[in-house]
Amino acid sequence: MNLVLMGLPGAGKGTQAEKIVENYGIPHISTGDMFRAAMKEGTELGLKAKSFMDQGSLVPDEVTIGIVRERLSKDDCQNGFLLDGFPRTVPQAEALESILTELGKKIDYVLNIDVDQDILMDRLTGRRICKDCGATYHLVFNPPAQEGVCNRCGGELYQRADDNEETVKNRLQVNIEQAQPLLGFYETKGYLRNIDGQQDINKVFVDIESLLGGLNA
Ligand SMILES: [Zn+2]
Repeated sequence: MNLVLMGLPGAGKGTQAEKIVENYGIPHISTGDMFRAAMKEGTELGLKAKSFMDQGSLVPDEVTIGIVRERLSKDDCQNGFLLDGFPRTVPQAEALESILTELGKKIDYVLNIDVDQDILMDRLTGRRICKDCGATYHLVFNPPAQEGVCNRCGGELYQRADDNEETVKNRLQVNIEQAQPLLGFYETKGYLRNIDGQQDINKVFVDIESLLGGLNA
Protein backbone atom coordinates (compact mmCIF):
# COMPACT_ATOMS: atom_id res chain seq x y z
CA MET A 1 0.00 0.00 0.00
CA ASN A 2 2.13 2.84 -1.33
CA LEU A 3 0.32 6.13 -0.90
CA VAL A 4 0.88 9.84 -1.39
CA LEU A 5 -1.43 12.15 0.55
CA MET A 6 -2.34 15.58 -0.75
CA GLY A 7 -4.66 18.33 0.42
CA LEU A 8 -4.70 22.07 0.93
CA PRO A 9 -4.26 23.64 4.38
CA GLY A 10 -7.45 23.09 6.36
CA ALA A 11 -8.52 20.06 4.31
CA GLY A 12 -7.96 17.72 7.26
CA LYS A 13 -4.95 15.92 5.84
CA GLY A 14 -3.27 15.46 9.24
CA THR A 15 -6.32 13.79 10.76
CA GLN A 16 -6.72 11.38 7.86
CA ALA A 17 -2.99 10.62 7.85
CA GLU A 18 -3.22 9.58 11.50
CA LYS A 19 -6.20 7.32 10.79
CA ILE A 20 -4.57 5.68 7.77
CA VAL A 21 -1.33 4.99 9.62
CA GLU A 22 -3.16 3.62 12.65
CA ASN A 23 -5.43 1.36 10.59
CA TYR A 24 -2.96 -0.02 8.09
CA GLY A 25 0.27 -0.01 10.08
CA ILE A 26 2.26 1.72 7.38
CA PRO A 27 4.77 4.47 8.28
CA HIS A 28 3.71 8.09 7.98
CA ILE A 29 6.54 9.78 6.11
CA SER A 30 6.26 13.53 6.41
CA THR A 31 8.99 15.75 5.06
CA GLY A 32 9.70 17.35 8.42
CA ASP A 33 10.01 14.03 10.28
CA MET A 34 12.19 12.62 7.54
CA PHE A 35 14.61 15.57 7.74
CA ARG A 36 14.71 15.45 11.53
CA ALA A 37 15.45 11.71 11.53
CA ALA A 38 18.22 12.03 8.93
CA MET A 39 19.82 14.86 10.92
CA LYS A 40 19.56 12.95 14.16
CA GLU A 41 21.14 9.85 12.62
CA GLY A 42 23.83 12.14 11.21
CA THR A 43 23.72 10.63 7.72
CA GLU A 44 25.71 12.47 5.08
CA LEU A 45 22.52 13.76 3.49
CA GLY A 46 21.07 14.65 6.87
CA LEU A 47 24.10 16.78 7.67
CA LYS A 48 23.91 18.43 4.26
CA ALA A 49 20.25 19.27 4.82
CA LYS A 50 21.10 20.65 8.26
CA SER A 51 23.75 22.98 6.89
CA PHE A 52 21.23 24.50 4.47
CA MET A 53 18.57 24.82 7.15
CA ASP A 54 21.00 26.38 9.62
CA GLN A 55 21.71 29.06 7.04
CA GLY A 56 17.99 29.55 6.63
CA SER A 57 18.09 28.42 3.00
CA LEU A 58 15.88 25.94 1.20
CA VAL A 59 17.21 22.39 1.07
CA PRO A 60 18.00 21.69 -2.61
CA ASP A 61 15.99 19.02 -4.40
CA GLU A 62 18.91 16.61 -4.82
CA VAL A 63 19.38 16.46 -1.04
CA THR A 64 15.67 16.12 -0.32
CA ILE A 65 15.30 13.41 -2.94
CA GLY A 66 18.31 11.56 -1.53
CA ILE A 67 16.73 11.60 1.92
CA VAL A 68 13.46 10.30 0.48
CA ARG A 69 15.35 7.49 -1.25
CA GLU A 70 17.06 6.50 2.01
CA ARG A 71 13.79 6.62 3.92
CA LEU A 72 11.83 4.54 1.41
CA SER A 73 14.60 1.90 1.36
CA LYS A 74 14.09 1.14 5.04
CA ASP A 75 12.52 -2.12 6.16
CA ASP A 76 9.42 -0.53 7.64
CA CYS A 77 8.37 0.56 4.14
CA GLN A 78 8.25 -3.01 2.88
CA ASN A 79 4.47 -3.24 3.15
CA GLY A 80 3.84 0.32 2.19
CA PHE A 81 4.12 3.93 3.20
CA LEU A 82 2.16 7.14 3.38
CA LEU A 83 4.09 10.08 1.94
CA ASP A 84 2.91 13.46 3.20
CA GLY A 85 4.40 16.78 2.10
CA PHE A 86 6.51 15.19 -0.60
CA PRO A 87 6.50 15.54 -3.56
CA ARG A 88 5.62 19.22 -3.84
CA THR A 89 6.59 19.76 -7.46
CA VAL A 90 6.47 17.83 -10.72
CA PRO A 91 10.28 17.41 -10.85
CA GLN A 92 10.13 15.92 -7.34
CA ALA A 93 7.28 13.64 -8.45
CA GLU A 94 9.36 12.49 -11.40
CA ALA A 95 12.30 11.82 -9.09
CA LEU A 96 10.00 9.81 -6.83
CA GLU A 97 8.92 7.71 -9.79
CA SER A 98 12.55 6.77 -10.53
CA ILE A 99 13.31 6.04 -6.87
CA LEU A 100 10.32 3.70 -6.68
CA THR A 101 11.23 2.01 -9.95
CA GLU A 102 14.75 1.45 -8.58
CA LEU A 103 13.24 -0.09 -5.45
CA GLY A 104 10.81 -2.23 -7.44
CA LYS A 105 7.79 -0.36 -6.08
CA LYS A 106 5.09 1.85 -7.47
CA ILE A 107 2.53 4.29 -6.12
CA ASP A 108 -0.91 2.74 -5.68
CA TYR A 109 -2.86 5.92 -5.06
CA VAL A 110 -2.41 9.61 -4.64
CA LEU A 111 -5.19 10.59 -2.24
CA ASN A 112 -6.27 14.19 -2.60
CA ILE A 113 -8.50 15.42 0.22
CA ASP A 114 -10.68 17.78 -1.74
CA VAL A 115 -12.44 20.75 -0.09
CA ASP A 116 -13.91 23.87 -1.71
CA GLN A 117 -11.93 27.03 -1.25
CA ASP A 118 -14.82 28.83 0.49
CA ILE A 119 -15.02 26.13 3.12
CA LEU A 120 -11.26 26.15 3.60
CA MET A 121 -11.45 29.91 4.13
CA ASP A 122 -14.09 29.42 6.85
CA ARG A 123 -12.02 26.71 8.51
CA LEU A 124 -8.77 28.67 8.35
CA THR A 125 -10.07 32.08 9.38
CA GLY A 126 -12.38 30.84 12.15
CA ARG A 127 -9.93 30.81 15.05
CA ARG A 128 -10.59 33.28 17.86
CA ILE A 129 -8.47 33.83 20.95
CA CYS A 130 -9.36 35.35 24.31
CA LYS A 131 -7.45 38.57 25.00
CA ASP A 132 -7.46 37.89 28.72
CA CYS A 133 -6.90 34.16 29.29
CA GLY A 134 -5.68 32.93 25.87
CA ALA A 135 -8.44 30.31 25.46
CA THR A 136 -8.95 29.42 21.79
CA TYR A 137 -12.23 28.99 19.95
CA HIS A 138 -13.27 28.25 16.43
CA LEU A 139 -16.36 29.77 14.83
CA VAL A 140 -17.14 26.49 13.01
CA PHE A 141 -15.68 23.74 15.21
CA ASN A 142 -15.75 25.19 18.72
CA PRO A 143 -17.80 28.39 18.87
CA PRO A 144 -18.10 30.42 22.08
CA ALA A 145 -21.56 30.44 23.71
CA GLN A 146 -21.84 34.16 23.07
CA GLU A 147 -20.31 35.72 19.98
CA GLY A 148 -17.02 37.48 20.68
CA VAL A 149 -17.00 36.60 24.38
CA CYS A 150 -14.84 34.05 26.21
CA ASN A 151 -16.85 31.27 27.93
CA ARG A 152 -14.25 30.90 30.61
CA CYS A 153 -13.56 34.47 31.72
CA GLY A 154 -15.87 36.77 29.76
CA GLY A 155 -12.88 38.32 27.98
CA GLU A 156 -13.02 39.72 24.47
CA LEU A 157 -12.12 37.38 21.60
CA TYR A 158 -9.83 38.48 18.78
CA GLN A 159 -8.44 37.08 15.56
CA ARG A 160 -4.69 36.68 15.11
CA ALA A 161 -3.17 38.56 12.17
CA ASP A 162 -2.05 35.21 10.67
CA ASP A 163 -5.66 34.10 10.55
CA ASN A 164 -7.08 37.12 8.74
CA GLU A 165 -8.82 36.68 5.43
CA GLU A 166 -6.19 38.39 3.29
CA THR A 167 -3.27 36.38 4.72
CA VAL A 168 -5.14 33.08 4.56
CA LYS A 169 -6.33 33.76 1.01
CA ASN A 170 -2.75 34.41 -0.13
CA ARG A 171 -1.50 31.30 1.60
CA LEU A 172 -4.22 29.20 -0.03
CA GLN A 173 -3.50 30.71 -3.43
CA VAL A 174 0.20 29.84 -3.18
CA ASN A 175 -0.70 26.28 -2.20
CA ILE A 176 -3.23 25.92 -4.98
CA GLU A 177 -0.77 27.12 -7.59
CA GLN A 178 1.81 24.68 -6.29
CA ALA A 179 -0.58 21.72 -6.13
CA GLN A 180 -2.24 22.09 -9.52
CA PRO A 181 0.60 20.85 -11.77
CA LEU A 182 1.24 17.99 -9.37
CA LEU A 183 -2.41 16.92 -9.40
CA GLY A 184 -2.30 17.07 -13.20
CA PHE A 185 0.81 14.92 -13.27
CA TYR A 186 -0.76 12.25 -11.06
CA GLU A 187 -4.04 12.35 -12.90
CA THR A 188 -2.22 11.59 -16.14
CA LYS A 189 -0.41 8.72 -14.41
CA GLY A 190 -3.78 7.36 -13.28
CA TYR A 191 -2.89 7.46 -9.56
CA LEU A 192 -5.07 10.36 -8.48
CA ARG A 193 -8.15 9.72 -6.36
CA ASN A 194 -10.13 12.70 -5.08
CA ILE A 195 -11.68 12.18 -1.66
CA ASP A 196 -14.58 14.42 -0.62
CA GLY A 197 -13.12 16.24 2.39
CA GLN A 198 -16.26 18.27 3.07
CA GLN A 199 -18.00 15.44 4.87
CA ASP A 200 -17.74 14.50 8.51
CA ILE A 201 -14.17 13.43 9.43
CA ASN A 202 -15.24 9.82 10.01
CA LYS A 203 -17.11 9.67 6.72
CA VAL A 204 -14.02 10.94 4.90
CA PHE A 205 -12.10 8.02 6.35
CA VAL A 206 -14.83 5.55 5.38
CA ASP A 207 -14.36 6.68 1.77
CA ILE A 208 -10.60 6.22 2.07
CA GLU A 209 -11.08 2.77 3.57
CA SER A 210 -13.40 1.62 0.82
CA LEU A 211 -10.89 2.78 -1.76
CA LEU A 212 -7.95 1.11 -0.03
CA GLY A 213 -9.95 -2.06 0.60
CA GLY A 214 -9.65 -2.75 -3.11
CA LEU A 215 -5.87 -2.96 -2.77
CA ASN A 216 -5.96 -5.89 -0.37
CA ALA A 217 -8.33 -7.92 -2.48
ZN1 LIG B 1 -10.89 34.12 28.49
